[in-house]
Amino acid sequence: MPGFEQVQTPEGLLFLKIPVFEEAGCTAVFSSRLGGISKAPYNSLNLGYHVGDDIQDAVENRRRLCDALGWSLEHTVSGEQIHGDCVKVVTREDRGKGAFTYASALAETDALVANQHGIVLSSFYADCVPLFFFDPVKKVVALAHAGWRGTFLAIGQKTIAEMQKVFRTVPEDCLVAIGPSIGACCYEVDEKLYQTFKGRFTWLDKVFKSNGEGKWRLDLWKTNYIQLLEMGIREENIIESRICTSCNTELFFSHRKENGRTGRMGAFIALR
Ligand SMILES: [Zn+2]
Repeated sequence: MPGFEQVQTPEGLLFLKIPVFEEAGCTAVFSSRLGGISKAPYNSLNLGYHVGDDIQDAVENRRRLCDALGWSLEHTVSGEQIHGDCVKVVTREDRGKGAFTYASALAETDALVANQHGIVLSSFYADCVPLFFFDPVKKVVALAHAGWRGTFLAIGQKTIAEMQKVFRTVPEDCLVAIGPSIGACCYEVDEKLYQTFKGRFTWLDKVFKSNGEGKWRLDLWKTNYIQLLEMGIREENIIESRICTSCNTELFFSHRKENGRTGRMGAFIALR
């Protein structure tokens, strides 16, 4: 399925949109690092409030992106993102949480679900995998933050389970997108991590490749893909960006490539 489409605004902002989601009734966006005002190493469209950047610069960056999409920053909601597996359903009353300060974000939350208009779900990334969900039948949107810990905890599956439980989502109806994040090309992990996964999943040979010297390449995209299929998501409804953030630091922040001193991109989703 065709993936993400680049959009460049006259003001120089660059972000990716998911046309399939757009056509089905929601706007889903992943930002790049281009078009903001933050200084190195956060240059320039850093959206993270907890990374050491000037907070007012990051607020202004988020505002610019929201302006470009016709959204109000006040209507965004985000979680604290602790690499856990807590999924929260949010309502209009939660709007503004995490919008201007990190401290006001929803505590210990890595996935957000909503079925109301006028809410913009948001989460932030530098290598971890952003998962976008849209149920066009029940009109439900969701975002999940899946680094290796979130992926290990199957946060994508837990997000779908929450949509099923609360909104009676049928997985076969859902569209899911796997956004830009670190690819297997750049994601080397150690034996310990391999052993951690080994106790939990039966299909490890599909996602781990050994270099023969105790190091492994982990494919987080495929791991999430397999987990989505296990939940009943149809193959033709999974959209993959297949863009590696670590290979493309001119466009994206990469925690690993830039040794932890970098900014954050944002994933956003809202019903139209
Ligand atoms: Zn790469």
